This record gives sequence, structure tokens and C-alpha cells, in this order.
Amino acid sequence: MAYPAALEALVDAFERFPGIGRRTAERLAFHILRDPSSRGLSRAIEEAVTRAQRCGRCCNVAESDPCPLCADPDRDDSLLCVVEEPRHVEAMERSGAFKGRYHVLMGSYNPAEGSEPRHLTLEQLLRRVGEERPREVILATDPDQEGEATAQLVSEALRSGHPGASSESGPRITRLARGLPAGSAIEYLHRGVLEDALAGRRPV
Ligand SMILES: [Zn+2]
Repeated sequence: MAYPAALEALVDAFERFPGIGRRTAERLAFHILRDPSSRGLSRAIEEAVTRAQRCGRCCNVAESDPCPLCADPDRDDSLLCVVEEPRHVEAMERSGAFKGRYHVLMGSYNPAEGSEPRHLTLEQLLRRVGEERPREVILATDPDQEGEATAQLVSEALRSGHPGASSESGPRITRLARGLPAGSAIEYLHRGVLEDALAGRRPV
């Protein structure tokens, strides 16, 4: 049985989200119909879209473009740290362990849950690496299955964009040390652990 057109449109809208399949989209749409408090969602989306913008350089969300981190002249341009989510930038900054630049993928790669590389900011990353030529790209993805798949996807993309990366032509590509507790999310690590993981980073 088909849903009313307006409900169908809502389900369709949810289904376009990364990692959301048809059944989850239906659950979310019905939740909105059932729960009056979720009706503030449309205004929240409106405000977020109006106020927050994407930094043209690192793809993080900010209220300015370039964002304050990209605009900061005191950061080290030769180190580029690739993270999955904006909250990972926050975690790294809180730790104070990193003084380079960031690139935010805005998601992770999880083929099992239907996420696709096109949702990530990979193209922007490749263009940036080509233009800015950092000495090293640090893949700071979470130490879980999704983080592993994401790091692999990014390192392969960097290598195919830069044949012979790790030689003189392309950047050195490294990952955080495996000393990170398996499955732990980067945002919950305290400063010491993140510092160790950065210090012990290894080539991929
Ligand atoms: Zn930025």
C-alpha cells in the first residue's frame, strides 16, 4: 500500500541520508508524526542550514569561511590530519596534541550500512593535497571497523591521485598508532592517549 504523497516525500527525504535504508526512513517519518516534540526539527534544520556553512578549505562546519582553524596563520601547513567528523576536530583540539591543519570527511565509509564514498569530502581532500602539498597526511580515523575501512579508502584515493605517494612526489601517509584502545572513539580519548597515538603514528 502506498503512503499519502506528503508522507512518502518525507520517507524519501530520510532515505537520501547516508546510511539510512528504506525501513529506517519509514521509522523516522512515523516517529515525527507520532511525537509532537519532533516537529521543531524543520526549524532546527532551517537554522542550521542558514547559520552554519562549510569551510571551503577543510570542509568542517563553521560560522565563517575559511573557518578559524584554517585562517590561523600559526598552524603547521605541512601536516594534514584527516578525521571523519567535526567532533573529532574538537577532540583533537581539546587534547592540544596537534598543531597542523585538518580535513573533515563529514562521515565514514561503511559499505555494510549503505554509506558510499560520494558522501565523503574525498574530492576536496585530493584537490587540497594537490594544491597545498602537505609533507604528511595523518589518517586519524576511529580504531573500529568503519574507521579502518575509511582509512583504507582515503589512503587508496591519495595514492591513486598521487602515484608513488610516500616517495618524493606525494605526501607521506600515516595512521595513528595502534595503541589506541580498539573500538574506542577518538572523541573520548584523553590528551595523553591522543599524544601517544600521534607520536607513534605509522606509515600505511
Ligand atoms: Zn577550515
